[in-house]
Amino acid sequence: MSIKLNDNYNNAKKSYLFSEIGRRVRTYREAHPDSNVISLGIGDVTLPLTPTVIAALHSATDEMSKKETFRGYAPEYGYDFARDAIVSHYAEYGVTLSPDEIFVSDGAKSDLGNIVEIFGDNEVLIPDPVYPVNYDSNVMSGRRISFINATKENNFLPMPDELPRRSMIIYMCSPNNPTGAVYSKEQLKKWVSFARETESVIIFDSAYEAYISGNYPHSIYEVDGAKSCAIEICSLSKTAGFTGVRFAWTVMPSELIINGVQLAQMWARRQATKFNGVSYIIQRAAAAALSPEGMAECRELVSYYMKNASILSSVLKEKGIWYTGGVSSPYLWLKCPDGYDSWSFFDYLLNNAEVVGTPGSGFGAQGEGYFRLTSFGSREATEEAASRLRRVL
Ligand code: PLP
Repeated sequence: MSIKLNDNYNNAKKSYLFSEIGRRVRTYREAHPDSNVISLGIGDVTLPLTPTVIAALHSATDEMSKKETFRGYAPEYGYDFARDAIVSHYAEYGVTLSPDEIFVSDGAKSDLGNIVEIFGDNEVLIPDPVYPVNYDSNVMSGRRISFINATKENNFLPMPDELPRRSMIIYMCSPNNPTGAVYSKEQLKKWVSFARETESVIIFDSAYEAYISGNYPHSIYEVDGAKSCAIEICSLSKTAGFTGVRFAWTVMPSELIINGVQLAQMWARRQATKFNGVSYIIQRAAAAALSPEGMAECRELVSYYMKNASILSSVLKEKGIWYTGGVSSPYLWLKCPDGYDSWSFFDYLLNNAEVVGTPGSGFGAQGEGYFRLTSFGSREATEEAASRLRRVL
């Protein structure tokens, strides 16, 4: 008799969405060795780290070279200077947090995937379409999943009005990946009051908050009462170009208590056991990115990518292709033209324009017939992609 495996993995799709995209692109390149494929698919940044961050990386590296300033294991939940920098960042949005409510990590992806562990067998409410990690990690741990549809009719911002009044773990992401939709404060208030009324917990992903322009909340804690019902997960990946550097955090407010248990304590216990902290050098870089000079540079990165978004938007407008996003979000979410489904439109663009995007159906059933483009390419690649799209659409 052999050992038992986690059979829940049988219920997960055979490959992660971006692995399948990578496979199709590799196959195309092998068949077309002279091709020049432009990727507007996976949401990876292209601009280098900013000067303030680079200076911090160098100086922290130098500290590691001297006996007096060398550091070993970092504190599991983050160095005080990094947690303080995050607290100051929230203060700019009028949100008051205490450093011990912040848990630094190597990525929002890890935290979103791992958070499942501290909950028991609850109903999990996931928007469709969704960032695949949220769905897959719940499938892999055998959770009961319900969907709430994000559709053109509700502007891709589903609301709780029609939901049954029962406790759930609710995943939310604003600005949204993949749809680019952003919740207003009024809308978030309704979600918070639903969660409080039903004793649900919201897991709020604010990884794209730096892209917000206008009067939208950057954090769910801008809504009164959210601290007693919401966990927030954020990242410097898209704010500061840290996709390869790796730095994120989870906020577990002290008021978040379920059946007398403070979730922050459970998360602290989990992290202390299974995570050994983010390296000193990277935490110095993160604190530098979050400093006033660092944030000014980050705003330049964001505006560069948002200019790309407007270059891509103008093609879609010109061609009369319905889309949303591209404002307060680096993603454009478009309706595939001419009745294409998501994967056939992917193949059409790959074969005819050598432009790679992400099929909407990879984010959930409601994404079928939609397609996501990112504005994280270089200006040159984005302009070239725009002119190819103009030609083939
Ligand atoms: N959350 C969302 C919605 C994302 O789109 C991404 C990355 O694409 C992440 C989290 C992961 O961020 P990180 O690079 O910090 O793991």
